[in-house]
Amino acid sequence: MRVVVLSGGVGGARMARGFDRLSEVDQTVIVNVGDDETTHGLHISPDLDTVIYTLAHKEGPHGWGRADDTFHANDELGRFGVNNKFKLGDRDLALKIFRTERLQTGESLSAITEQARAGFGISTRVLPATDHRLRTQIKLPDQSWISFQEYFVHRRHTDEVTDLRFAGSDQAAPAAGVLESIVAADLLVIAPSNPPLSIWPILAVEGIRDAVERHPATVAVSPLIGGKPVRGPADRVLASLGLPAGNEGVLAAYQGLLQLLVIDETDAADAPDLAVEVLVENTLIANPEAAARLARAIVESPN
Ligand code: GDP
Ligand code: CA
Repeated sequence: MRVVVLSGGVGGARMARGFDRLSEVDQTVIVNVGDDETTHGLHISPDLDTVIYTLAHKEGPHGWGRADDTFHANDELGRFGVNNKFKLGDRDLALKIFRTERLQTGESLSAITEQARAGFGISTRVLPATDHRLRTQIKLPDQSWISFQEYFVHRRHTDEVTDLRFAGSDQAAPAAGVLESIVAADLLVIAPSNPPLSIWPILAVEGIRDAVERHPATVAVSPLIGGKPVRGPADRVLASLGLPAGNEGVLAAYQGLLQLLVIDETDAADAPDLAVEVLVENTLIANPEAAARLARAIVESPN
């Protein structure tokens, strides 16, 4: 069974790890690159790295970065007065250096991601949504626009988000294999990622939204549990963009795309109000066993 997962960072990586454990599933993960940034001269792809580290069972304690990492190099940068709030671990630096060096020789992000996947011995295919430059930008109430990492890391996602734009999306073509894998997928899964911040930038790439719209079996897993995100600002961002609260907001964020929405048991009362087929499951997938159980429930759902 061919499964394609659209993924941001932590929520998406956890879902992908679930499908990775089902022997009958041949998985491709298509990952957001709207959060990519150059930091200390290095090309950082936070969501690609989270997906790779999580599939390799080497993710950090909070879901991002590497397990068993230290931060000596990052701390040392402080000695020179360098802003080191974006924490890069010593082990984590290796992938960043490798990627940056390969990009400078003219290789594509998708080709480099493929080498990284092989280096970690992962069998699931991992594709950036695009090899082109695409950057999520956030509009603040004072009408100014800031970069994603400025909003998320430096300002700790406390600002009200009044609008989003995906700079470069009008020139961004899907990476090789992205549209083909969506078309060929038996099941297309939108992971429990932040809908506006992690999934919309994927859909903004030329042709991807159309391909998702046309797919006859598209399932989204809600990132809300008990009406709240497991972590991060998804509920606040949905609200400040004018979308309804709770799972109605998640559904609205994916209007016209879904055949099925998977919501958490704690939100079962939302089901009658949702204008889509609903599957109610335990969606807390912090550990691989829970993720595999949810993946199985999705694969076996009749929709
Ligand atoms: P980021 O790039 O690391 O912020 O990653 P994502 O957008 O993929 O993930 C953030 C979202 O994942 C948040 O809205 C969380 O609510 C959601 N999330 C994280 N862990 C879980 C989980 O175990 N279950 C569910 N349902 N959502 C989760
Ligand atoms: Ca992210």
